[in-house]
Amino acid sequence: MNFSDSEIVASILDKEGYGATRNYAEADLVLLNTCSIREKAEQTVRKRLTEFKKIKDGKPGMLIGVLGCMAERLKSKFLEEEQLVDIVVGPDAYRSLPVLVEEAETGQKAVNVLLSRDETYADISPVRLDSNGVTAFVSIMRGCNNMCSFCVVPFTRGRERSRDAVSILKECSDLFDNGFREVTLLGQNVDSYYFIDEVKDEIVTFSKLLEKVALISPLLRVRFSTSHPKDITDDVLRSMRKHKNICRYIHLPVQSGSTRILQLMNRTYTREWYKAKVDRIREIVPDCGISSDVIAGFCTETEEDHEHTLEIMRYSGYDMSYMFVYSERPGTLAQRRYADDVPPEIKKRRLTEIVELQNRLSLESNRKDVGKDFEVLIEGDSKRSSQDWMGRTTQNKVVVFPKRESNYHKGDYVMVKIKDCTQATLLGESKD
Ligand code: SAM
Ligand code: SF4
Repeated sequence: MNFSDSEIVASILDKEGYGATRNYAEADLVLLNTCSIREKAEQTVRKRLTEFKKIKDGKPGMLIGVLGCMAERLKSKFLEEEQLVDIVVGPDAYRSLPVLVEEAETGQKAVNVLLSRDETYADISPVRLDSNGVTAFVSIMRGCNNMCSFCVVPFTRGRERSRDAVSILKECSDLFDNGFREVTLLGQNVDSYYFIDEVKDEIVTFSKLLEKVALISPLLRVRFSTSHPKDITDDVLRSMRKHKNICRYIHLPVQSGSTRILQLMNRTYTREWYKAKVDRIREIVPDCGISSDVIAGFCTETEEDHEHTLEIMRYSGYDMSYMFVYSERPGTLAQRRYADDVPPEIKKRRLTEIVELQNRLSLESNRKDVGKDFEVLIEGDSKRSSQDWMGRTTQNKVVVFPKRESNYHKGDYVMVKIKDCTQATLLGESKD
């Protein structure tokens, strides 16, 4: 989401005549787009700011701005805490950046952290940064109305709002016309997407939006993230089944496998509900990959709760997970209501067990693919060798295969036979 926001910011500044550089030492304006989700993310930002300080000391005209969730959370406190910051801008205020930069150029500190009920940057065509020319993110909504007790997002990104479907479709079509072959529709809770198209007198739900994007071209792959287990509908699963180019992959964060902890987290589903969702996905889209987010050591978590998390991971057979220790965030419901009482070393040990289990599950899942053929969308050279291509299957698994004499290009679809695998990668050979 931050990556996608940075592309919107680049577009706003591009119109004002600013260009991007890869080398921050030569920049006149450095903007750091920040994350507040865990304390570690914020520490990383502070560390990066001290790196910038060294450059700024030798280059007094240089302006430094902080964007995103950490800017929203700390507001003008940021200016006091981090003396070198000139500009602080929250996620809904990027349109005011040119004015804020002008203000900062006169030596004043510039702040805009107003949250909005309707800003979606719908009309802004993002400048693609660091693009491979094949895959792109498209933001379809902003904010979040769920109040998961551990999460800072509803406070830093404001109320949920859906972006105009017409502008989403235009952005996806333009991407396709420019050679892109995969779009990932982004939102904190994509299944609650809801837009009324007054011109066509039509209600566009997420499943309808998915189908509309899928119909742009059968050669355009469509992905989406993130689905909340309580909101993903059979309609979405049926749309996936109906359109081959809607990728067989769902990121379905479980957070915990214990119903008691899920209740404290305010996730509004139980362990049984979650398992039934996994069953439903497997029933309607049998070849679907599933991944998850898992938090270790939430407030009051016992060994038994932790065992339930390991059990639900095994049950779901995740292909991949993002795994974290619980990090208490100021202002969240959990911080106000519950003690962060699981000792750090226990959190860490539980996380290690979760990571080790996921590694085994990933390897098992990849081993099942050895001997099978997959359609792979080539994204570019493999990281290790320019002699190999890297691409992905519809299930979002990374595939590496030798280029040999074949005349493929980035953005081509290729049938690949899987010969071997590691825990993170399928290794194959193209079939022709
Ligand atoms: N909206 C998405 C959802 O509900 O799954 C993702 C939200 S968040 C940006 C990504 C992940 O960060 C969450 O799914 C959760 O696992 C993790 N996370 C959020 N707050 C956290 C916290 N306080 N401590 C540890 N992990 C956290
Ligand atoms: Fe945070 Fe929950 Fe919203 Fe995801 S759904 S962004 S975890 S509050």
